[in-house]
Amino acid sequence: MFRSIRWRIAVPYILLILLAMGGLTAYLSHFVREAHLADLRTQLTAEAGLAGDNLAPLLARQPSSAPFDTIAKKWARLLDARVTIIAPDGTVLGESHQDRSKMDNHLSRPEVQQALAEGSGTSIRYSHTVRYNMMYAAVPVMSANKVVGIVRIALPLRQIETNVAYLQRTILTTTVFATLLAMLLAWIIAGRTTRPVRELTAVAERMAAGDLDARLLPSGHDEVGQLTEAFQRMADQIRHYVTSLAQEQGRLAAVLDNMADGVLITGPDGTVRLINPAAARMFGTSAQEAQQQSFAAVVRHHRIISLWQACREAGREQVAEVQKDWPKRHLRVVISPLPQAESSGYLVILQDLTQLRRLEVVRRDFLSNISHELRTPLSSLKALVDTLRDGALDDPPAAQRFLDRVETEVDALTQMVQELVELTRIESGQVPLQSRPTPVTELLRIPLARLQAQAERAHVQLELILDPAENLPAVLADAERVHQVVTNLVHNAIKFTPPGGGVTVSAEQAGDEVIIAVRDTGAGIPADDLPRIFERFYRADRSRSGGGTGLGLSIAKHIVQAHGGRIWAESIEGRGSTFYFSLPVAQG
Ligand code: ADP
Repeated sequence: MFRSIRWRIAVPYILLILLAMGGLTAYLSHFVREAHLADLRTQLTAEAGLAGDNLAPLLARQPSSAPFDTIAKKWARLLDARVTIIAPDGTVLGESHQDRSKMDNHLSRPEVQQALAEGSGTSIRYSHTVRYNMMYAAVPVMSANKVVGIVRIALPLRQIETNVAYLQRTILTTTVFATLLAMLLAWIIAGRTTRPVRELTAVAERMAAGDLDARLLPSGHDEVGQLTEAFQRMADQIRHYVTSLAQEQGRLAAVLDNMADGVLITGPDGTVRLINPAAARMFGTSAQEAQQQSFAAVVRHHRIISLWQACREAGREQVAEVQKDWPKRHLRVVISPLPQAESSGYLVILQDLTQLRRLEVVRRDFLSNISHELRTPLSSLKALVDTLRDGALDDPPAAQRFLDRVETEVDALTQMVQELVELTRIESGQVPLQSRPTPVTELLRIPLARLQAQAERAHVQLELILDPAENLPAVLADAERVHQVVTNLVHNAIKFTPPGGGVTVSAEQAGDEVIIAVRDTGAGIPADDLPRIFERFYRADRSRSGGGTGLGLSIAKHIVQAHGGRIWAESIEGRGSTFYFSLPVAQG
């Protein structure tokens, strides 16, 4: 409490007042007492002189027999003091207040001694009789230049002591009042002076607690006012910096959150300090869970952990490509020490190369598939051309046969190239769908009519079963594209169905889609092949696929998916297959 500015201002004032008043009290008490005593001394000496003059004739004549006691009492009454009449030898001749017979020789009394030596003497002594300090004043009584006696007058100093004590009390009371007043004033003044400081403290504390908008009212132009202004400027600056830092941090967080690459920062001890959602996904965890865990526990991959350790030991960037199992990923890991200081940690960047690698594999497979598929027709073409050159040309009927076969091979090649081009275009989204609400019958009748002749040639019964009562809704479709899907499916069904079999096409509504089914009673598809028949160039049974390219179902799949539908197949080997695809119902 006494350390506050209030008290630091008040205490010196109070001490100063106490010291001044104390000094004043001591000085005044002493001064008043001395003045009174001097007055009294003069007064008593004068009175003793007066009485002495009066007594001189009597003392000169018959010092022993005169009624000095009576005279002393009379004088004592007159002067309101004790009066003693003493012979020159010290014997007490008369006494106003005491029993003279009990009094000893007074020659040795200091006032008497001083009076005899100097003509008057005074002394202050404690009187055991009256229990007061008394002032004694003695004067020698002269007659014909001879000392005939001594008159002594004594008065108690009680009055003086009372006066001095009264004075002291008055000064003391004043001192107490002045001190209290000083305390009050100091309290008020210090309070007024320190109020802005206290307000400033409160505002600073609010700011420290996070309220950056806390401000003070301006408080004048004195030093505290200047401090307040400086403080406001500082607060404005801090708010400006904090706001821009927060914005910066927000931007950084948004970038980190939406980055495809994984970013992870560890402390020097390997504790995860920051992890973005992409990195969390790569390790099958969440950002909250990973926070403050150890790097090893989050990553759970010995290759990445040892890479981190290598980076820590070497203090240099480490790069590696890593395969991990769960979740299955192919990662490029870059670990580098954070630039600021050695102790600030390590930055781990994870680039997900899974998709890239997969595409590479797809492209490689695709190329090897194409070259494989081209090799057969090309080598048979080469063989046919060789045969023609080697002499078959000279045999016109044979030459005609060989040319027919050449034409067949070239047609097959042309079809494959056309289908590949088509597939690539659909896959790359180059042919935008012209979707519009279309009746399902329109989607099925046209391709079936086209394929009718082929079915008849193959002795396969082709049938469209549509229940008119079902009243199918229109679907959102690009009719030409869907015709292609139906053609591919029905074409396959006819191709893989032996003569005498049948192919039926039907459609039904299921929720907000219409499902179209192409059912045949043909060879069916082995269960092992079933999941793969929609892949490019996949042919389940090459001996029976009769020159197919293996692209038809792949094209169908892409077209259906582009419509937002699904395609799948069910089959029992030897009994037949059913191919289904769905199209969304046109809304409204
Ligand atoms: P392809 O041009 O060879 O017919 P597709 O992509 O149309 O190529 O078909 C892929 C493979 O799926 C075919 O080779 C065949 O083995 C199998 N397949 C397709 N439809 C049927 C079906 N209706 N019955 C039996 N197998 C089929």
